[in-house]
Amino acid sequence: MTFKALMVEKTDDGTQAAVTDLTLEDLPEGEVTVAVEYSTVNYKDGLCIGPGGGLVRTYPHVPGIDFAGTVETSSDDRYTPGDKVVLTGWRVGEAHWGGYAQKARVKADWLVPLPEGLTTRQAMAVGTAGFTAMLAVQALEDQGLTAGPVLVTGAAGGVGSVAVALLSAMGREVAAVTGRPEQADYLTGLGASRIVPREDLNETLKRPLESETWGGCVDAVGGPMLARVLGQMEYGASVAAVGLAGGAALPATVIPFLLRGVNLLGIDSVMQPYENRVRAWAKLAEVLPMEKLEAMVVPATLGDLPGLGVDILKGQVRGRVVVDVNG
Ligand code: NDP
Repeated sequence: MTFKALMVEKTDDGTQAAVTDLTLEDLPEGEVTVAVEYSTVNYKDGLCIGPGGGLVRTYPHVPGIDFAGTVETSSDDRYTPGDKVVLTGWRVGEAHWGGYAQKARVKADWLVPLPEGLTTRQAMAVGTAGFTAMLAVQALEDQGLTAGPVLVTGAAGGVGSVAVALLSAMGREVAAVTGRPEQADYLTGLGASRIVPREDLNETLKRPLESETWGGCVDAVGGPMLARVLGQMEYGASVAAVGLAGGAALPATVIPFLLRGVNLLGIDSVMQPYENRVRAWAKLAEVLPMEKLEAMVVPATLGDLPGLGVDILKGQVRGRVVVDVNG
């Protein structure tokens, strides 16, 4: 019996991605075989659909850094056929074949049971980006948010959209940074009370400290924007650094740390222990308004993925692309 997958092959001048037929024997080793229902498109997926950027170890490769579906077979006691499961992280979709296929085989340790109150489609509307947004918000809360509004950079993207909706649902005033003014209505619909144009924060750092403005920040952009934001944080406030859509170099000074006690918190969703994953998923199911989650969804099928992989690297995707692998 065959099933469909998006397979990336190495070619003489780069890589090529196409939907192909596979059999169960083709899948990598693992204790649990899952009938995948939904996967998503994250920034890393864009890299893995294309030339890999050092993320993909071996070709041919099936990308897809997250998925949700139903257990088909399991040699691990924790899972039985029919269980609904979710996977994010553990380099699945990078070093191990991922969710862009109707079947996936993975280690039992990498899975979590589908959180109560979420469907597999909703879990993937959240996906890696939303899970990461939750980890960032939890890190800010653990550190103690100060009084000012919470800034979210890269707000119309996947991490940003979920962060805006989560923070607003938790009663925080949210300022959303976007380079796409046409997404202002979308962002206010998710709960942003203020839109900050990207160009306001993209200028090179002129002064290490500016007015104390933000009580916290979820930063998906990094680069010069993060450097600028550090100098605008309130005394003792924290920035949860999630991504580098705007660059990996950080042209900052130490002054905000020394004179304002600013905290820079690094967020990694890939290697989160089981207990943290279960806790973050439970909180997402509890806090995230489902109508806002639905407003973020861009539906897609396996055949749409090569184009979407290019779009997300250009910062042109809005919200969360949910891939119906059987669609
Ligand atoms: P998206 O592409 O969906 O969102 C990124 C957003 O950043 C864009 O939509 C755009 O928002 C903004 N942006 C893009 N390019 C630039 C630029 N040059 N300058 C300023 N802003 C820019 O990606 P994701 O939300 O999925 O991921 C965001 C980042 O977080 C990525 O770097 C990703 O690798 C990282 N990430 C990290 C994780 C972790 O575990 N630490 C997990 C998941 C993601 P707008 O148009 O609104 O300005």
